[in-house]
Amino acid sequence: MNQPPGWMQAGLEHIWLPYTQMGAEPAPVPVTGTDGVHLTLADGTRLIDGMASWWTAAHGYNHPHIVAALKGQAERMPHVMFGGLVHESALTLAARLAALAPGDLSRVFFSDSGSTAVEVALKMALQYAINRGEGTRKRFVCFRGGYHGDTIAAMSVSDGDDGFARTFAGVLPAQIVADLPRGPDGREKFAALLDAHIDEIAAVIFEPSVQGAGGMLFHDDDTIRAVVAESRARAIPVIADEIFTGFHRTGPLFATAGADVVPDILCLGKALTGGVIGLGATLARKHIFDGFLGDDLDRAFMHGPTFMANPLACAAANASLDLFENEPRARQAADIAEGLEAGLAPARSLPGVADVRVRGAVGVVELEDLPLDRLYALRAAFIAAGLWVRPFGRIVYLTPALTIGADDLSALTAAICRVLGKN
Ligand code: PMP
Repeated sequence: MNQPPGWMQAGLEHIWLPYTQMGAEPAPVPVTGTDGVHLTLADGTRLIDGMASWWTAAHGYNHPHIVAALKGQAERMPHVMFGGLVHESALTLAARLAALAPGDLSRVFFSDSGSTAVEVALKMALQYAINRGEGTRKRFVCFRGGYHGDTIAAMSVSDGDDGFARTFAGVLPAQIVADLPRGPDGREKFAALLDAHIDEIAAVIFEPSVQGAGGMLFHDDDTIRAVVAESRARAIPVIADEIFTGFHRTGPLFATAGADVVPDILCLGKALTGGVIGLGATLARKHIFDGFLGDDLDRAFMHGPTFMANPLACAAANASLDLFENEPRARQAADIAEGLEAGLAPARSLPGVADVRVRGAVGVVELEDLPLDRLYALRAAFIAAGLWVRPFGRIVYLTPALTIGADDLSALTAAICRVLGKN
């Protein structure tokens, strides 16, 4: 890289970067532009983006339809409070999401991000129990390998042993951590765990199909069905966190719909706006919503973030839904799956590779280990090879825009195999 831009030198003294050991890690990479599946760096280098900005930019960057929607909304009404006022972008989006979501997930509560969508879901489940006179139900069942966000309650239901929340394990509310119910034995164990804690459980929360930040771990539709069926048999609400898996990332529009189940509460974020602006949506089934009705204000859902249902974010999401509806994202996800299978297959025989796996538009190369110095070296080597991928833990993964072309995809996978073979 040539001389970094002036704003970089001045600002790096003041910025606090995420998940970064700022005493040791190499400097971050200044980026000045995005388009399609490309990033342009400050020195003019163009990279093929393999991860679509944490899998948000499902339609590629700077999609003109989304940009136009944002501009139009910015000129009409960039923001307005959502207390006592409503607006077209939010109400249209709510109706569209309710129509797209499985079953009677028909009420939508908006917030600002994935983590807040999860916080909202957890609070909904807690208050649903309180409103039913079941205030002893204060805990959540969550799963090993799970990840649901960085805020306190979301961390508490993430895997505290091995994940991002590890540092805080001792100070978070203690939840009930289960193994995913794989196979008949797993299902039996899960059922027994629910029975053992039945009066304490406000809800079960899980990421269907792929546990993302926990290590890109996959499970099958039978496991998804077992989570829902065993919970439902005990009238325990199920929260599906589809912030990662939603909007065709794993193939179907929603992983729960793909497994033919309807969760009681569904969390969406990330690709909801096509990745241009933060927005979380928490959808509830009718019986959950009805549990908040009555004459008493105390029964009403006690939540209302300042920027909820931000019109810019809702306009972007409506435009993003247009694209999901009118363009062949499901087919593109299937094509990407094929391209990832073929392109990453050679990595299987590389030394130090523990596993290669693909689920929809998610491709994973899991290494036997990835010490920090090699992690930093790999990140730099990927940039030198013309791609943007950012391994974490022992995982090198691809979650490209669903619009990525076959040539760019095979350039990505070939470069990954080449770099992993050399580094
Ligand atoms: N849930 C899942 C499954 C996620 O993958 C993420 C983000 N990686 C979150 C929740 C949190 O979303 P956000 O970063 O937008 O708060």
